[in-house]
Amino acid sequence: MSDIIQLLPDHVANQIAAGEVVQRPASVVKELIENAIDAGATSITLLLKDAGKTLIQVIDDGKGMSPTDARLSFERHATSKIKDAQDLFNLNTKGFRGEALASIAAIAHVELKTKQEEDELGTQIKIEGSEIVSQEVVSTAKGTSIAVKNLFFNIPARRNFLKSDTIETRHIIDEFQRVALAHPNITFLLHHNNNEVYHLKKSNLRKRIVASFGTKMNEKLVPINEQTDIITVNGFVAKPEFAKKKRGEQFFFVNNRFIKSSYLNHAVVNAFEGLLEGGAHPSYFLYLEVPPNTIDINIHPTKTEIKFDNEKALYAILRATVKHSLGQYNVAPVLDFDRDATLDTPYDYSKKSGSSIPPITVDPTFNPFKTETSYKEPSTNGSSISVSTHSYQSNFKKDTGSWEALYTNIDTVEPIQQEQLFETQQETETGKTFQIQKKYLLSSIKSGVVLIHQSLAHQRVLYEEFLENITVKEASSQQLLFPVNISFSSSDIEMIYSIKSDLESAGFMFDEFTKESVVIAGIPTSITESQITLILEQLLDDIKLEVPDTSFSHFDVMAKSFAKSLAIKTGTSLNMKEQENLVNNLFSCKEPTISPFGKPTFKTLSLNEIDAVFNK
Ligand code: ADP
Ligand code: MG
Repeated sequence: MSDIIQLLPDHVANQIAAGEVVQRPASVVKELIENAIDAGATSITLLLKDAGKTLIQVIDDGKGMSPTDARLSFERHATSKIKDAQDLFNLNTKGFRGEALASIAAIAHVELKTKQEEDELGTQIKIEGSEIVSQEVVSTAKGTSIAVKNLFFNIPARRNFLKSDTIETRHIIDEFQRVALAHPNITFLLHHNNNEVYHLKKSNLRKRIVASFGTKMNEKLVPINEQTDIITVNGFVAKPEFAKKKRGEQFFFVNNRFIKSSYLNHAVVNAFEGLLEGGAHPSYFLYLEVPPNTIDINIHPTKTEIKFDNEKALYAILRATVKHSLGQYNVAPVLDFDRDATLDTPYDYSKKSGSSIPPITVDPTFNPFKTETSYKEPSTNGSSISVSTHSYQSNFKKDTGSWEALYTNIDTVEPIQQEQLFETQQETETGKTFQIQKKYLLSSIKSGVVLIHQSLAHQRVLYEEFLENITVKEASSQQLLFPVNISFSSSDIEMIYSIKSDLESAGFMFDEFTKESVVIAGIPTSITESQITLILEQLLDDIKLEVPDTSFSHFDVMAKSFAKSLAIKTGTSLNMKEQENLVNNLFSCKEPTISPFGKPTFKTLSLNEIDAVFNK
């Protein structure tokens, strides 16, 4: 039989390698920025179009390449960073495999411009799917600019596999943040579709963290510093009261490289022992320096795990250090001086001259589950739910002429209404529904009884209500008298902006976006002004978490997220009317049996089943 093995042509080998190195636009971003850092750049600009699907361009002011190197840089296993295997044990560069540029050039249209300081003119090279299209002499600034266009143009399957722009942007911002946090001494810029998302000036670590995550971060940080023979730890942890419900701002860097380590994470979480409320995740930014020969450096380019020689010792040191710093910094809750004054609506209009005390009326058709005004949620982040704002706002549209009158009513009407709702509640209600342990509702039905989980049931009701509002009906929106200005980190603003139209369909109205804040002029009628921040933060968390999910629909995530934020919680007393409404609303749902997150909402016990209990 004749020989059948042949060597793969380079462009095929490159495409295969690309499959490993380049999974999505964010992988390209990571590789290009790391190359810029290795080239000694002091300023790095990232330009994106359409979440990197159309364009990813990285411009640096690093050392540039000679014309020959420029050409060679696209060859596989072409690297200037190691010469022999021994160098692997003394690496101080991000790259060393020499396959990133070759891989990227195999699956995109690439345009390189580069010039070394001492040269008069630079080099421009265009490559499309590993084919060199042109090489020219150009006049260009010192440093390198690499533009990667139409990623995966020749691998439609990969291109189709890419997620929505929101998700791909999220991945890119994650990578961007990781390198930016690891290199506060470098200036980083990020523009997406010609909007500036980040302008992180060269600074120190603390300022870099604050610039990346918003000014609110500053007061949260507790410094960590420890030096031992085997490890140096620097950085910050966030005070326990700022722990997040979801994992988010958790960063480990080892020798300036972002890594993930569930083992070290455990050490940090352990140091917070007793300080975190159930299930909360602390934020941290921890920079570890270890001798390069005590870690396994041969990490795969797309992997972020790492192996340490002295794992156990590192665990103990990390835990002790964080614990010590938390203790030292006396982590008492701080007052939130950053609170945006515009969030505090002026209620004190009761003293206004000419205000007459309006008659108190109780609306018999009042449905608490439509308006959120009747129950108190166990207060989340310290702010109780404003009962009054919502009602006058929802009236506002209908009755714009006399809004001032509505205003003067606020103090007098609402508290009474609220009291009535809470105080008429009797523990020994003799109606058809009973509340058990402020958690379940028990209702008799023809065939027996039904036990309903009040919070999960309400999630279902709200979920369907939102979905219907968003997708079927015109979104019902209430205009705010005073637009609310809310600050977020710039990446969160970017994300809100990217789902702006979806949010508008849900009833939000936006006035103005800046880099770190958004002005909200209108909100869905189903929420209150004081819930805006909470709801949007929850939504962002949920979207971030939803990232790997292919069946991604913003509407669904939004509806789920809103339902979760707004549903009555366990521990909330419901009066008779509220109980009845919840039961009725639940059973008029399309899918009453499960919560939006797939948990059962109720359980029926038939008479037969009950009888069986007593006939044993
Ligand atoms: P690696 O980074 O593993 O060496 P790459 O394919 O990413 O492999 O890059 C190949 C080579 O191209 C690098 O070793 C470096 O010499 C050169 N290079 C790439 N990007 C830049 C840049 N922005 N500035 C200067 N040189 C660069
Ligand atoms: Mg590289």
